[in-house]
Amino acid sequence: MESGTIHHTWTLPDGRSVHLRLNHEALTLSIDIHLIYTFDRAGRLYAVFDHGVNYRRGLDGRVLARWRQQRGRRTRRWLSPREVDALLVRAREDTSQVLDAWESLETVPEPMKGQVGQGLQRAVTFDVIQDVRRFHQTYLPISILPPDQYQALVLQATEGCSFNTCTFCALYRDRPFRIKSLSAFQAHVAAVLDFFGPGVSMRRGIFLADANALIIPQHRLLPLMTFIHQTFSLLPEHLSSRERRARMAQDPLAKTGVYAFVDGLSAERKAVSDWEALRGLGLRRVYIGLESGHEPLLAWLRKPSTAAEMVDAVRRMKRAGLHVGVIVMLGVGGHRFDAGHVRDTAAALNAMPLDGDDIIYLSPFQPDPIAPYLSLARAEGVDLPTDAFMQAQRQRILARLTLPPPPAGPKRVPYNLMDFVY
Ligand code: SF4
Repeated sequence: MESGTIHHTWTLPDGRSVHLRLNHEALTLSIDIHLIYTFDRAGRLYAVFDHGVNYRRGLDGRVLARWRQQRGRRTRRWLSPREVDALLVRAREDTSQVLDAWESLETVPEPMKGQVGQGLQRAVTFDVIQDVRRFHQTYLPISILPPDQYQALVLQATEGCSFNTCTFCALYRDRPFRIKSLSAFQAHVAAVLDFFGPGVSMRRGIFLADANALIIPQHRLLPLMTFIHQTFSLLPEHLSSRERRARMAQDPLAKTGVYAFVDGLSAERKAVSDWEALRGLGLRRVYIGLESGHEPLLAWLRKPSTAAEMVDAVRRMKRAGLHVGVIVMLGVGGHRFDAGHVRDTAAALNAMPLDGDDIIYLSPFQPDPIAPYLSLARAEGVDLPTDAFMQAQRQRILARLTLPPPPAGPKRVPYNLMDFVY
């Protein structure tokens, strides 16, 4: 059992059994096994598991339900506001019952009784409406994160994307690009910490947003990273998971490091020594949207950089000791670009010195109705990929990789944008 974690199992007056778990990150209530509520330490509902359906509540108040259909196929949908309200009411009623029952337990010693009681009280009295309002005052919409960063503490050092040219992407078309000044960023970090309160302990790493925050010129980026380094306790690399958990349990501001997206063009502007300086200030993994290694497809998609530039950028980041996440889009460009996309994407990945600390994300193409891609594809007779086409393309790219499999080589991980909730 993890040290500092409280576990307790007992029976509610209505006969349901409860298993309660409280640690530095979360309060979890498992009721009759098939119903599980998870709250952060501020009392904010984070997730519900109910009879095989996973509900993830975003900080903007929306809830995504995910479940497996027959034959294991995963499916998902956003709940309506009415369904969200019903879920929240039910969570509050169940948690109230657990709190009442907890308070009447006579066999639980202090300080455990008080610690758990306080955690349950926070969950019962949490002001959801006010919290969503404060989230929108603190952040511009968090458009996307890499899948291993959904639980990060997002800090918006920039707003928007400096390019906004890619025909498939409409993630940041709602805002002009701007880089925050050091003082504006410091005020933003203070507002973020105030917003999360004790819930900050659930956030493991720091994600420097928005789209390509590392485009910030080095002379402006270093003071921002220094401020992060001074504000948070960034953990050394290569701690064991037990050591990492122990450090994070002691200090809610202990984080695994800083993570961010970069585009190939901006990455090209940084020398190995620039990346080394950022690594020294806590930068751990950089995510780059290769999308494809096929130059004609990248040009057709109006990506700001070429595959050759992105390969070169990854080589330099790796020389600086950084970990990378390389994102490949499956199915984009349909049959017209299929053969070149498979061949050149595998070749680009093979040209990157990726190792066991790196990740290749394989992301099925999801056409965005607001982005120009659909009308462009229609006008030029480019077909939309089916699931089967994307699956087959994934297999063909993977089959061409000469990089070693994990643990020596990079992990190959699915990245479905539809699963994103922050
Ligand atoms: S894909 Fe990246 S670089 Fe292209 S418009 Fe979107 S956020 Fe910007």
